[in-house]
Amino acid sequence: MSKKSKNHTHSFQAEVAQLLHLVTHSLYSNPEIFLRELVSNASDACDKLRFEGLNQPELYESDPDLRIQITFDKAAKTLTITDNGIGLTEADAIEHLGTIAKSGTKEFMSKLTGEQKTDAQLIGQFGVGFYSGFIVADKITVESRRAGTPTTEAVRWVSDGTGAFTTETITREARGTSVILHLRNEFEQYLNAWDIKQLIRKYSDHISLPIEMKKEVWQDAKEENQPGEMVTTDEWETVNSASALWTRPKKDITDEQYQEFYKHISHDFKEPLAWAHNRVEGATEYTQLLFIPTQAPHDLYYREHKSGLKLYVKRVFIMDDAEQLLPQYLRFIKGVIDSSDLPLNVSRELLQESRDVKAIREGNTRRILSTLESLANSDDAAEQDKYAKFYAEFGAVLKEGLAEDAGNAEKIAKLLRYASTGGANSANSTDTQTRSFAQYKADMKDGQEAIYYLTAENLATAKNSPQLEVFHKKGIEVLLMTDRIDEWALNYLTEFDGTPLRSVTKGAVDLGKLQDEEEKKALDEANEQLKPLVEKLQEVLKDSAKSVRITTRLVDSPACLVIDENELSPQMIKMFKQMGQDVPEPKPILEINPEHALVKRLEKNESEFADLAHVIFDQAKIADGQIPADPAGYLKRVNALLLG
Ligand code: ADP
Repeated sequence: MSKKSKNHTHSFQAEVAQLLHLVTHSLYSNPEIFLRELVSNASDACDKLRFEGLNQPELYESDPDLRIQITFDKAAKTLTITDNGIGLTEADAIEHLGTIAKSGTKEFMSKLTGEQKTDAQLIGQFGVGFYSGFIVADKITVESRRAGTPTTEAVRWVSDGTGAFTTETITREARGTSVILHLRNEFEQYLNAWDIKQLIRKYSDHISLPIEMKKEVWQDAKEENQPGEMVTTDEWETVNSASALWTRPKKDITDEQYQEFYKHISHDFKEPLAWAHNRVEGATEYTQLLFIPTQAPHDLYYREHKSGLKLYVKRVFIMDDAEQLLPQYLRFIKGVIDSSDLPLNVSRELLQESRDVKAIREGNTRRILSTLESLANSDDAAEQDKYAKFYAEFGAVLKEGLAEDAGNAEKIAKLLRYASTGGANSANSTDTQTRSFAQYKADMKDGQEAIYYLTAENLATAKNSPQLEVFHKKGIEVLLMTDRIDEWALNYLTEFDGTPLRSVTKGAVDLGKLQDEEEKKALDEANEQLKPLVEKLQEVLKDSAKSVRITTRLVDSPACLVIDENELSPQMIKMFKQMGQDVPEPKPILEINPEHALVKRLEKNESEFADLAHVIFDQAKIADGQIPADPAGYLKRVNALLLG
């Protein structure tokens, strides 16, 4: 006797309701992906059972062969995807099929524009999973029983994909989950075995479990002049290859298969940029299949960003997001590692201490860096273009590696690209981040002893920086760095291939041999002559400037600010402040151009000396991309001088 179970209504989490609306509207033009998403979930559910079953074999009940089955009912217009994986309890169903657990969901939602094409791409990046069923179905019923729970404690979840869903307790013999799609009229094409098989081969062939469908046979017409027809039998047949993709020989795998596999593990709708698939033998043996995505995930910089690879041990799925298998700065890489040596019961804690894992991480890092290197150095324009795309998306993350992975800093440095003022031998300046340290070195002037660079908030500020004037005059190239991380990262890279790296905004200009004797003499003379002026400026500006000195680095500007070799730059201070860290702000050094008319005017005009001195200081600050400490005071002084 069964007591009548209660039917409960629940509302979707607000984000889910919003996502559902978008999914059905934006992905309408690419409906077939629903099957890949649902098969992918079914496969994950079986992986989870296999993993839990390692310690609790009773979870298999009496049904040890994991599989996915697809059936349809033409009369009822339903398509059903069934797995005998881990299953869901009622509480699981309410939680997992009613909320989105992913990090950065809110942030992601706020990026949506309401414009179909852009949103479809964004959603692709986010991954819609289960909810994609609503592209083709106007109602979804999920029936499920969690492995190991009584048959009377199964759940039915029903929703039309608008604001709410219902759940009730049901009786279900079979372990695992059936997702029953009540197809919209316009998607009845999916009630057709041939079409479904095509889709499985296209999207889900790499799934390591068998995907089964009822066998169809041709039946001749019973009467003459009548057409024959396909009839469905009761016999199951496997419609995919059912072997884990990474275990197959490379030569047997097509690009499309790699791409589909990537989409399966990454939930990304875009094709990967590149991949590397290898069987590594040696002290520890494993298979690595690593993908470089085309686009950075929206949560790459979130603390909760899930990074790492899927870990398998001898084909048994062990865990997602095994972050120990990659360094942090390669957290955007997706893929699978299948180890032959790790124990099946390996835990995250164990991974931390394992020497095998350390070897795998190093092997993965080497492989990714060499894959990037070959893209970057390729003669093939398409490959170079790929590298440029990669760099635009992930260049800033890669730079973290200079600090994190000192052992590979040299390799990483070879992969870095910057905008530049253009070298002595290359007439064009490069506004895009395409210039490498190696190219810079090859184009250095005779007698040049350092690689010069400038860090700034953005390219416009960098390009117009007064600090560049002497470099322009002498035709010396300067790399322009505008990623927020650049300055910090370069603390960890002091030289490239034996040549020191030198910031043009730190310390006095040191052009080494490029500075001729005459210039040195002129500087000495100016220093002597302008000593009283410098002292007076120092006195007037003592609250703002650490010191004042004469410079030869300026041509067109009256002054600029520099900081001492060992002090934090304004950009670094800004970065620390954004991270919530309080750091003391060092006073800058004011360098003045003895040849400039404004500086000469300082010498002559006693009455406006103080105003002019402050204006020159504030302008140097503005040229550096900063705001004067007292903007209103600055304007007042400028206006007084203009009218004066
Ligand atoms: P994702 O798979 O990216 O986590 P989905 O929206 O596709 O997101 O699924 C949400 C959750 O619902 C899954 O993480 C899983 O816990 C659960 N789920 C979905 N499909 C199944 C299934 N066939 N069997 C068991 N659990 C499932």
